Amino acid sequence: MTSRFEMIPLCSGSSGNSILVRVEGLQLLFDCGISCKRIVEALEKVGTDPNDIDAVFLSHAHSDHIAGADVFMRKYNKDIYATDDTMRGFLYTCKKEHDPSLEHVIEDDITFGNVIVKACRTPHDTAGSVCFKVCCEDKSVMIMTDLGHVTDEIRDMALGVDGILIESNYDLEMLLTGPYDYVLKRRVEGPYGHLSNVDCAKMIKDLIDSGTRNFMLGHLSENNNVPEVALGTVVDYLMGFGLMLEKDYHLSVAKRYEPSSPMVVFQ
Ligand SMILES: [Zn+2]
Ligand SMILES: [Zn+2]
Repeated sequence: MTSRFEMIPLCSGSSGNSILVRVEGLQLLFDCGISCKRIVEALEKVGTDPNDIDAVFLSHAHSDHIAGADVFMRKYNKDIYATDDTMRGFLYTCKKEHDPSLEHVIEDDITFGNVIVKACRTPHDTAGSVCFKVCCEDKSVMIMTDLGHVTDEIRDMALGVDGILIESNYDLEMLLTGPYDYVLKRRVEGPYGHLSNVDCAKMIKDLIDSGTRNFMLGHLSENNNVPEVALGTVVDYLMGFGLMLEKDYHLSVAKRYEPSSPMVVFQ
């Protein structure tokens, strides 16, 4: 591998998600959950011309992941990759006609030279939902959000990755005592909802045991979490196993409305 491999969340949370991965000269965009205008502004802030995006991947058809995808695809003539169900959900939201050759249904790994993008089904409350892993030679990063629990398949894919953006959606106490109604609380907390701070901490422990060192917490709920609580929960949990921040692992929280510092897994 000759060039830098990095992951840069442009925004993260229930208010909108979009993540840029740069590897081997490629620029891959995962989800477009904010307006096209805001995606372009965020890309410019991190030094990427939207015309230079090589492909767009959609994890699922919730609006916080696809809100800007229709306009971005048409304006910049970009290929969109999504599972069959997600593509259907996305097309349903499209406002104007586009070139159908831009639509690519994910059936297997997607390869761009040395770079492989893998998708794995996630247990979430919409059909066709997946998380993504990007591999280049022996390095890899993963984007793992919007899942009610970690399945064996996801765990197998995640163990040993060099860096991961992992969901830390809610603090259970804040959720239970917060503003959501009973049905929504059950949906968020259920097996097809989102990962809590504690669920996330447990997965991070397993990942550290597998050799992963770089973690970014993402997709925090605006109502049922705050960055300090999410970070504190993970750090305290890991300390219980003698694992120390910065010595044994690196951890940050992806910013909600603006690009975060890049997570670099290969210089
Ligand atoms: Zn989401
Ligand atoms: Zn979702």
